[in-house]
Amino acid sequence: MAAFLMIAPTRFRSFLDPVAKTKFHLSEMLSSFTCRQLLVLGLAFCTSGLTARAATVLADGKQARFKVIVSAAAGTEVAAKAQLLADHLGRISGAEFEVAGGSGAKGIAVGVYSEFPALAASVAHLFDPDDPFRQDEYLLRSHDDGLYVLGATPLAVSHAVWDCLHRLGYRRFFPAKTWEIIPRLPQLALEVDGFVAPDFVFHRFSGIGWDVENTVPPFKEWAERNRMTAGFDLVNRHIYQAIVRRFQKEFEQHPEYYGLENSKRTSHKICIANPDVQALAIRFASETLSQKPEVETVSMEPSDGFRWCECAECAALGSVSDRALTLANVTARALQKKQPGKFVGMLAYAMHAPPPSIRVETNVIVTLATRYATGGHSFDEIRDGWQAKGASRLGIYDYLGLSHVHKNLPGRGKGANPEWVASSIAEFHEDGFAFYNGESCDSWGSLGLGHYVGIRCLWDADEAENVSDLMDDFLSKCFGSAQTEMRAFYQLIDGKNDPLLSEDLVGRMYRILGAARKATTDRDALARIGDLALYTRYVELYRAYSSIPAGDQRLQAFEAYLRHAYRMRKTGMVDVKSAFVRNRREGIPPDCQWRVPEAENPWKSSELFSDQEIDAIVEQGAANNVVVEFRPFDPTTRLAPSGLPSAKRGTFGERRGPHQFLLWATNGLLPQLTMSTGHLSTNRGGVRWELLKADGKVLQSGVVPPNRAKHTVTFKATTDGPHRLRYEDQGAGTQISWPPGSTALGLADRRHYQYGIGLRGLYFYVPKGSKQIVAWVSSVSRLTFSDASGRTKKCELSTWPNLVVVDVKEDQDGQAWSVASNVNGQFMLLNIPPYLALSPDELLVPR
Ligand SMILES: [Zn+2]
Repeated sequence: MAAFLMIAPTRFRSFLDPVAKTKFHLSEMLSSFTCRQLLVLGLAFCTSGLTARAATVLADGKQARFKVIVSAAAGTEVAAKAQLLADHLGRISGAEFEVAGGSGAKGIAVGVYSEFPALAASVAHLFDPDDPFRQDEYLLRSHDDGLYVLGATPLAVSHAVWDCLHRLGYRRFFPAKTWEIIPRLPQLALEVDGFVAPDFVFHRFSGIGWDVENTVPPFKEWAERNRMTAGFDLVNRHIYQAIVRRFQKEFEQHPEYYGLENSKRTSHKICIANPDVQALAIRFASETLSQKPEVETVSMEPSDGFRWCECAECAALGSVSDRALTLANVTARALQKKQPGKFVGMLAYAMHAPPPSIRVETNVIVTLATRYATGGHSFDEIRDGWQAKGASRLGIYDYLGLSHVHKNLPGRGKGANPEWVASSIAEFHEDGFAFYNGESCDSWGSLGLGHYVGIRCLWDADEAENVSDLMDDFLSKCFGSAQTEMRAFYQLIDGKNDPLLSEDLVGRMYRILGAARKATTDRDALARIGDLALYTRYVELYRAYSSIPAGDQRLQAFEAYLRHAYRMRKTGMVDVKSAFVRNRREGIPPDCQWRVPEAENPWKSSELFSDQEIDAIVEQGAANNVVVEFRPFDPTTRLAPSGLPSAKRGTFGERRGPHQFLLWATNGLLPQLTMSTGHLSTNRGGVRWELLKADGKVLQSGVVPPNRAKHTVTFKATTDGPHRLRYEDQGAGTQISWPPGSTALGLADRRHYQYGIGLRGLYFYVPKGSKQIVAWVSSVSRLTFSDASGRTKKCELSTWPNLVVVDVKEDQDGQAWSVASNVNGQFMLLNIPPYLALSPDELLVPR
């Protein structure tokens, strides 16, 4: 790992860590488990009945024990933070905290450590404010005469103040003020002694806060209070166009500076091989950094898209990665001489994701995007490849949620799965990544917990082991006596449980919220449940409008959806601006569009929802959305070959994305597969496949090239029984089949849909005793189920995505059925074995 993290002094453990998991020397921080508990409680020691030997009492019986001390040397930023701490301690304890000058030896000393010469002697060795990677570090230390709240920089002082308040129970879970928690503690005491340094030097969620007047101020507050702002600013945005703009005159005089495409100099992917272009890039970097001396990095990230220069000199530089890196390196070397200590930022992304063949300069920070790589390398191969070329400072660019893709819906996007966010951050940390940017959006209904858990883990990756504690803390503080119901709500919409958008899901959300509203009388808790009720209504209205193919009805439903989204926008639960501006094709009338202000816009009203309105929404929502009771199929059910006769073979059609199959080995042999890929795109590296044993161990892997030719995939001999095949084609477009009589099945369960363009005559097994088939489809015009006697049931859905329920006639259980669809979307079976076969004899059935 990079040296700058090695020299960071011992970090402080999360106070939520269970003692047994703590790797650190507890004595450094807390003298006993009871003190730990006190700290967790945040704390009211007289009511806990515990003896707090070393806890420093800050207030008792509405009397402040100490003043908040600011040095005369402090700037206005630090002074403001000291006042803010005093105000919040007062709100929590009911005592009045005075802010005064002083040496810091007595009282609650708030400031940059060097502002207190009397203290600096004993703590200065902990800090290095000249190290650009250590600007966020701070010390919290309680002692007999008060508390140190000392930072390396004014920003670090802010982090320290908010961390101190966090330890006393203060929370700002989401940006809207509704989600702020200010505990009331008549006795306020804290025992703390720790030096805190973030695990990720750069920690940011980008893409949040673009509805300038509505979401920026609350998000800024949230970011500050959750220590999201980082002192080191890593810049790696697309920059080539900015270089062209800055030197417009030079580019006009020298068209050869542009990239060559189709024999013309027209591409914004500038001609990197040209020394004059390199000189302009150096000038761009140098001037940019001179203009803002406080900034440490300049970007040399290529413009987005393809269109790389086709000239012979650029080709001679090597791969696209080599070319992008060449320009970054040239700039970095110039900075080493002229502006030492400055860095160049770039991504490993899209066409320049594959590892380079040239060395990376020491002051280039490479950030790997977790998606959109071309070239067919795995993420690990890309990481290892760049590291092997000297990239020692690595960043990660992850994708938590995209409002125009995920539409603020339950479970959509990585951010909607807080455990996944946490575990991946812990893995990135383990792998040596020290810079993190998670692209996300103003969608706090579905992504809020992921954001909150994410920032906790970016400071301390070990918090990933305690996500359930973070969730407990969130539920108890936000919902009090309704926390049991709200736990069920958050479980329902958690991405890890694969919530399937449907009337059933919406009906369940409303029912839980109705019960939660009855379980509490606390106004703050009711307001939060109210926000989620409005969010649920948003989901209901989205589903209603998106199901209508076209026409006036669709526009009416769209209007109802947008009006509701706008009216609830202060909750921050959904990205309202995106719903307006990214749905222009829905035909929003000119006077109703986003840019038309509320006073003149008939679709915009900020009128608040009354309690009665929210109650009515919940009640009607529960009545209008039917819940389907069914027992989900148990995926651990043991299977055996069906022994059924063969029938006319079906087809999986053409599919894209990740898919999984169940393969059955008999006499040590697995079915041979025929695969072809590249039918939709040929630059994604083909299909990468892996064969797994039932326990998840990878047995074999391989790649099918994207040349549309049929390839035979043969597996090595193995033990008899079930195996998994999984593949990912990154949207390349793939066909798959196997010889008749082979036991191979497409998996179509909650997590592994089959994508059904041209899915025809595929067989599934309906176990004995089944009364119904419950399936889920993402979109549909018609789905046809046929039982063994040839009777068919056509299902036409009026709204989707939705559950499809088909009754099973008495003599048609214990048999193979078939399904065909003209669905251009996903298909899943929920209550019966979710395996699709080309012929009944190839099925596996429960033993
Ligand atoms: Zn060129």
